[in-house]
Amino acid sequence: MVTSAAPSPRKRVVLLGATGSIGENTLRVLAAHRDKLELVGIAAHSKWEKLAAIARQFDVRHVGLFDDAAYSAARANLAAFPAGTHLVGGLSGLVELAQLPAADTVLVAVVGTTGLAPALAALAAGKDLALASKEILVLAGKFVVAAAKKSGAKILPVDSEHNAVFQCLEGHPHTGVRRIILTASGGAFRDWPAARLAHVTPADALHHPNWSMGPKITVDSATLANKGLELIEAQCLFGLRPEQCTAVLHPQSIVHAFVEFTDGAMLAQLCPPSMTFPIQHALLHPVRAPGVDSALDFTKLLSLEFRPIDESRFPLLRLARETMAAAGVAPAIFNAANEVAVAAFLASEIPFLAIPRVVEHVLATIPNFEPADLPSVLVADTESRRLARLKILDPQP
Ligand code: NDP
Ligand code: MG
Repeated sequence: MVTSAAPSPRKRVVLLGATGSIGENTLRVLAAHRDKLELVGIAAHSKWEKLAAIARQFDVRHVGLFDDAAYSAARANLAAFPAGTHLVGGLSGLVELAQLPAADTVLVAVVGTTGLAPALAALAAGKDLALASKEILVLAGKFVVAAAKKSGAKILPVDSEHNAVFQCLEGHPHTGVRRIILTASGGAFRDWPAARLAHVTPADALHHPNWSMGPKITVDSATLANKGLELIEAQCLFGLRPEQCTAVLHPQSIVHAFVEFTDGAMLAQLCPPSMTFPIQHALLHPVRAPGVDSALDFTKLLSLEFRPIDESRFPLLRLARETMAAAGVAPAIFNAANEVAVAAFLASEIPFLAIPRVVEHVLATIPNFEPADLPSVLVADTESRRLARLKILDPQP
């Protein structure tokens, strides 16, 4: 007798940062795979009207807004949301969403480190964590990895390079890995003469050649702080030594990472520069399904270039590598100072070349130490932000 197989249950997803660049790409993946994925919770910082539209489109009843004023505005306009919506506010609201009993996977795509508490809450509740917010791992990677180990939940990398490494490593014992090589597009100023960098405006920095992303990560791509954060993220996610984590310039952003094994063989992962590829991989893992965007087409001219990175042009990459080697709270200090400096650059408070100066100053001022617990990392993070602001307000040496 032939029996038809029961349809596999849909994976239920909570999406924190639904209104952002990763959020929008995730919604495209969810819309294309409604038979396999169900959106059950969403959150944003303040764009409540956009969030209400998403809630209506995907019939989502659990909705969070971090910002108090936006939360109140949404409360006053509950009719804009599907009937029966449960609206939550603030950080505690994000944490509540991350632990929704109805969820299997939580995708954290909140810019910066605000997503740390929700990410830890999701892992503690045994939910798989699809992680875009790399800053979380740079701030508190060992605590996040420990939380996953404790509950047995998985961390599925969404960042394209890490998703690529994850795919290349599958089925290969870690002992056979010599090093990983993340690719870097080189950002907006890859081909600018160094002398022009002194006059860069926020608008210049927000023009990325290959990727369309949120403002903070676009500036980080132009300074290559992003690649520095990603090396630290990779070290933490894959349990590597600092010297095993390297990067190469690849202007086309088609190869996302290489894994080099001890015998000298390398595996690479390739796909066009669209975040729908790694997002879909992380959400459907281990299932493969047709992609949302077109795959590479070898009937068209395609050339791939790779060049070493000139670190003298990108001091933040050097500083990030140094903090990775120093370990302790140095990566957290780097991340916090960089976040504050980038915000100040975007607000036209400091010039582009002052971003690494602020970060270097803060790193040189705060003594490094090995954190015994999460609160001591958070103290270093807060102190780093305070010192970065002071340096921005008084840039004299
Ligand atoms: P965007 O600036 O485009 O979007 C940020 C999202 O986070 C928005 O939905 C925003 O809500 C929300 N948000 C911001 N602060 C809070 C908060 N305190 N509480 C709740 N939600 C908040 O950023 P991206 O999508 O580009 O990046 C998100 C994360 O993903 C970053 O950590 C980035 O490093 C990482 N990433 C991004 C990639 C990309 O291609 N964009 C690639 C790899 C990693 P609102 O709209 O209301 O402000
Ligand atoms: Mg990346």
